Amino acid sequence: MNCPYCGFEIDELNESQPVCPQCGTDPYDPNSYGPLDDPIADALAELGDMRREEAERKLHEASKLIN
Ligand SMILES: [Zn+2]
Repeated sequence: MNCPYCGFEIDELNESQPVCPQCGTDPYDPNSYGPLDDPIADALAELGDMRREEAERKLHEASKLIN
């Protein structure tokens, strides 16, 4: 199998290599490496930030009109 983190080919039959010799990731422990990059989640988070900033700006402008 290949290391899920760095792609290094791990000899899974070789028990002296319980972790990736290249980066130290345990390929059988999904918690030993961070979540995989999810460009869609990143984009959605970014979009959420933009929407929030826009909403705050509009709210700010609206409050100026009221006062
Ligand atoms: Zn690795």
